[in-house]
Amino acid sequence: MNHSKRIAIVGAGVAGMALAILATRRGHHVTLFERGREVSSMGAGVTLWPNAVFVLERMGLCDDIQRLGGTPRYMRQFDRHGNTMGEFDIDAVNRLCGFPSVTILRRDLMSALAAALSDLAVDIRFGCSITTQDIDDLKQRYDLVVGADGRMNSVVRQAIYPEPVPPRYQGFVNIIGISRLEDSTFDNAIHDVRGPEARFGIVPVGTDRCFWAGAWRASIDKERGLSTGYDDMDRRFGDWPKPVRQVLQSRDPASLNRIFVHDLDPLPYWHRDNALIIGDAAHAPLPTSGQGACQALEDAWHLVWMLEEHDQLSSALTGFYQRRIAKTSAAQAAGRQVAQQIFGDQTEPQPPGPGLSAERLSHFWMQGLDRA
Ligand SMILES: Cc1cc2nc3c(=O)[nH]c(=O)nc-3n(C[C@H](O)[C@H](O)[C@H](O)COP(=O)(O)OP(=O)(O)OC[C@H]3O[C@@H](n4cnc5c(N)ncnc54)[C@H](O)[C@@H]3O)c2cc1C
Repeated sequence: MNHSKRIAIVGAGVAGMALAILATRRGHHVTLFERGREVSSMGAGVTLWPNAVFVLERMGLCDDIQRLGGTPRYMRQFDRHGNTMGEFDIDAVNRLCGFPSVTILRRDLMSALAAALSDLAVDIRFGCSITTQDIDDLKQRYDLVVGADGRMNSVVRQAIYPEPVPPRYQGFVNIIGISRLEDSTFDNAIHDVRGPEARFGIVPVGTDRCFWAGAWRASIDKERGLSTGYDDMDRRFGDWPKPVRQVLQSRDPASLNRIFVHDLDPLPYWHRDNALIIGDAAHAPLPTSGQGACQALEDAWHLVWMLEEHDQLSSALTGFYQRRIAKTSAAQAAGRQVAQQIFGDQTEPQPPGPGLSAERLSHFWMQGLDRA
C-alpha cells in the first residue's frame, strides 16, 4: 500500500512515538494525542535488548541511544547473601543478534524519541485526554486510529472490546529508582539479586548511574502511603548484599515510584474497523520479561511494514496481528514464568532457568526482524 494515510495515535509513550516517527518517515500524516502536558519522563530506566536496538537503528536513533545509555556486558545473578548463582554473557548474545543491548534512563529514551518527532515536525497535541466517546469521531476523521495508550486503562482497547479487558495483578510490587554510582563495583554488569519472594535488580547506565527495582510479593495496598512503601523496602533489603545497600543509600528521592504490576492475557484480536491497539495496550507483559518497551518498538516497525505491504487496511491490520501475536504472547508467558520463579510460593530462590542460552535468546529476540 503506497498511498499515505491519516493516522491518529493515542498516547505518546514508547509505542506511540516510535510509530509516529516510522510512519511519518514513510509518508503518512500523523497526529499524536497525549493526555500529559509533555512527554512523560516517569519511570526509572529500561534495558533495550538487540531487537529494540534493531528498530531504533532503522529509526536512525541507534547512535543517540548508545551515546545516552550504557552497554552492559553481563547479567549476574546472586542470592540474597551475595553468592554468585549464574552469569549470562550479554556480549555473546549481542554478537549473535548483530546489535548491542543498551541500558538507558527512561527520560533519556523519551527525549531522544521526542527530538526525532520534533525534527519531523509531527503534530503532537499535548494535554489531550481522549475518551471512548472521542474514538468514534477519530475513526471518522482518520484512516487509522492507533491506541498506544498503555496497559491499565486503554480507551482504544475499551472501544475495540465490547466486554472489559481487566489487566491482571500478578502479586508483586515494584519500587523503582535511580542512583549515582561512586565506584566501579558493578563492572558493567546488570545485577539480579534474589531472595525468597523478593528480587532486587540493578542496571548500570555507564559508570556513574544506575536504575534499579526492588520487588516483592505483596497484595495491592494503596492505603499504605508511598513513604511507608519506601520504608518497607528499606527494611526488606536493608541487610541484602552491599551493592543493594549502596544503591539504596545513594538514591535520588525524586526518582522513586511504586508500581503494583499488572499484565494482560493474550488477546484474540487487536483491531475493530479502523481502530487498532499496539504496545502495552495490546499485550502488556510483566517487567520480568524485560521486553515491554522492546515489543512496543517492534510493533511500530511491523505495523508500518504491514501498511506498506497490504492494499486493504483490514488485511494490513489482520496481518499485523498474525505477525505479532506469537512473539508478544511468548514475552507475556516468559514474564509470568520468571515472576513465578521469583515470587511464587517457595522458600528458597530458584537458580536461573535451564536453557537460557545466548543462541535461544538471540533466536527469540531477532525472530521476524529480517527485513532489509
Ligand atoms: C518497573 C518496570 C520496568 C520495566 N523495564 C523494562 C525494560 O527493562 N525493558 C523493556 O523493554 N520494558 C520494560 N518495561 C515495560 C515498558 O516500560 C512498557 O512495556 C512500555 O513503556 C510500554 O510502552 P507503551 O507506549 O505501550 O505504553 P506507555 O509507556 O504506558 O505509554 C502510554 C501513553 O499513553 C498516554 N495515554 C494513556 N491514556 C491516554 C488517553 N486516554 N489519551 C491520551 N493519552 C493517553 C499516557 O499518558 C502515556 O504517555 C518495564 C515496566 C515496568 C513497570
